[in-house]
This record gives sequence, structure tokens and C-alpha cells, in this order.
Amino acid sequence: MPQQYVLVLNCGSSSLKFAIIDAQSGKETLSGLAECLGLENASLTYKLNGNKHTVSLAQNAQHAQAISLLVQLINDNKLSDQLIAVGHRVVHGGEQFTGSVIINEEVISAITKVSALAPLHNPANLVGIEAATKAFGTLPQIAVFDTAFHQTMPSKAYLYALPYALYKEHSVRRYGFHGTSHYFVSGQAAEVLQKPIEDINLISAHLGNGCSVTAIKGGKSVDTSMGITPLEGLVMGTRSGDVDPGLFSFLSNLGYSAKKIDNLLNKESGLLGLSQLSNDCRTIEEQYEKQNPQAILALNVFCYRLAKYIASYTVPLGKLDAIIFTGGIGENSNLIREKVLNLLTIFGLSVDNDKNLKARFGKSGIITNNNSGPIALVIPTNEEWVIAQDSAQLVKEVK
Ligand code: ADP
Repeated sequence: MPQQYVLVLNCGSSSLKFAIIDAQSGKETLSGLAECLGLENASLTYKLNGNKHTVSLAQNAQHAQAISLLVQLINDNKLSDQLIAVGHRVVHGGEQFTGSVIINEEVISAITKVSALAPLHNPANLVGIEAATKAFGTLPQIAVFDTAFHQTMPSKAYLYALPYALYKEHSVRRYGFHGTSHYFVSGQAAEVLQKPIEDINLISAHLGNGCSVTAIKGGKSVDTSMGITPLEGLVMGTRSGDVDPGLFSFLSNLGYSAKKIDNLLNKESGLLGLSQLSNDCRTIEEQYEKQNPQAILALNVFCYRLAKYIASYTVPLGKLDAIIFTGGIGENSNLIREKVLNLLTIFGLSVDNDKNLKARFGKSGIITNNNSGPIALVIPTNEEWVIAQDSAQLVKEVK
């Protein structure tokens, strides 16, 4: 059978992440990132067969120009004949999408409708869909939603205790994000545990710039920490996670506008706000080792909040088989994993320092030494592969 490649696109407001993935093996032939789109110093960096290249884009180049360059790269490297679909990461699918879909006019209008719930993400995703449709007119375009995996949550988990009309009339509820990642690592965990996914209960912690934790019962999301937007829950790089909602009126009485509060909670808080150093976990860890008090404070709040969430997610699960760490921090920070697991000894978890140190930089593995009870695992995530597999599957189904 000839190779079947899927072009995976992840559009941010000023960025475009792309990868050409073999839908059978998950191997990436071409991958890259266009950054600073719409700005003076727009550029595109790509990796082809292991070699890295950087190209400057025209001043103020937009997503369409980045995609034109991508088309050229695809053609120059004779990859177009094997391309079977373009898979798009779409952040918010509201309540309408419980799985991936082939994009048509109806899907575009549903993504547009739900954009008010993700104003930073969905409009950028739509720009990517439009540009890719123009560039790859003959290929099916697939939408894979961050929210879809969490649509199995029961109402007791997704409803806020607000007037019910806000849910009915304005769709105010918990949606959850990072669904593709939580789905992927839960499947991998079942393989490590050598049990059917239907028989196991997991808590997965996706810790990147954004952080979320999900309770997964028998392969289905039953609760998750992000809410109507990706701001709720854990401490993140620049996002506060949970705060008392009373803070809004307190800050507004101090003269803060809604926009300023939104900026403060999304861009100036989290590890950055607490440490006053950086949103980058590596910098904070370096300072933590040097006993910098702000770095110690930031990591303590981060780990305590995460451990509290993990402990609370044993409530919907009843029984816990494994905790999964993934995302840039989860996959690499042995320090954070150790601190979090040391707060969870009530569950019989005990860190194996050697295994914890080894499970870094793309290596997966069990990092606890329990003989019975739950274990903790490190599993590198691969959202792009899920998008490629879903896209290939949908293309197959319509043929
Ligand atoms: P995104 O959510 O944007 O996809 P990533 O999953 O790549 O982000 O995670 C980025 C985070 O991972 C950053 O805070 C970064 O500091 C952290 N990180 C990456 N490598 C390490 C490391 N070796 N040790 C600790 N943290 C790391």
C-alpha cells in the first residue's frame, strides 16, 4: 500500500505549527513552525528528514503566505501525491462535536458560532482552515477538537452552580481542553498496564504552557480541570488557574477594566506572576535549585494545586490505576513529578528516584515503586498523531 500522509495544522493567532505525518506509523517527514505572522519579523522554521532550516517570510506575512511556502516545500519534496487529508486542530467545538469531522460549510458555521467561547483560538483555527482549503482544494479537511474528548462528562461535572438559564441560553458550562492529549496518553497507559482501556481508571496531567488534569474512567473523560475557557484549574505558565470569582469585583473596584483583569489572569499570573522570574519552568527550576525564594514559592503553589486536583479526581473514579504525567513539564521535570507524588503518599504512591530521573526527554516509563495500588507514569504526548489517525480514518469511511 502506498504511504498515506496527513498534513496536520495547528493555527494560533500569529503562528502556524505544521507536520506531515504517516498515518500508519506516526513518522513525521516534515514539521515546522511559522511564527510572528502579521508582524515585522515573520519567519518559518522547518525540519525535513532530520535537518533544520529557517526561512524569513515577507514583512507582515499572514497564515496564507506561510501556507503558500508550505505548499512549495511539499511540492519540491514530492510529498503531494501521498497526501490524503489536512487535519486541523480546532480548540473549541462547544457541545456540538463529540468527535472529529470532515469540514463542510455547516461545520465552519458551527466553529464560527462557538468562537465567542474561545476568541483567541477559534478565529485563528478558521483562518487556517480557509487558507488550507484554498491551497489544497482537492483534499478533505478534517477538524479535530480539543473539547471533543470531554463531551462524555456528566452534568454534575460540567455544570457551574450558576442560574441554569446561562447554560441553556449561552452555553455556559465546563468544556475542558487538551482532550486529544488526554485521549492519546490514556490509550498508551492501557498498553503499559496491559489491560483493556475499558477496565482501567486514570488521572492524566497535561503540563505544558497550559496545564490541565483529567479523570478518565474506562477510557472516557469524567471530569477535567479547565472550564468554559482554558483559564480554570491548575497553575500554568502565565495563567492563574482557579481564583475566587469575587476577585473580579474587588479588582474592578480598584479601577481595573475587564480587559485588564483578563490580561492579568491569562498573561501575567501563574508561574510567571508568582516567581516574578519567568513562565518557563526550566528557568524557575534553575532558580529553585539556587534557593531563590520566589522560585520555591512558585513551584510549591504549582505542585500543591496539582496534587489537590489529582486527589479530588479519585472521587469520580472510585478506584485509581495510574497517574500520567505528560506535556513539556510533565515529560521532563523530575522535580515537579517528585514534589507532586510526595504530596500523594496517602494513595500509597512512592517515587522511584532513579526511574523518575530516567523518564525524561522523550523517554516514557513507570516512575513509582509500588507493588500494589496506583502507579505513576510518564508518557510523551503526540496530539499530531491522533489528528493524523482521525483524519485518515474519516477519509477511509467516506471512500
Ligand atoms: P505547549 O503547551 O505550548 O505545547 P510544552 O508542552 O512544550 O508547551 O511545554 C512547555 C513547558 O515545558 C515550559 O514551561 C518549559 O519550561 C517546560 N519544559 C520543557 N523542558 C523542560 C525540562 N527539561 N525541565 C522542566 N521543564 C521543561
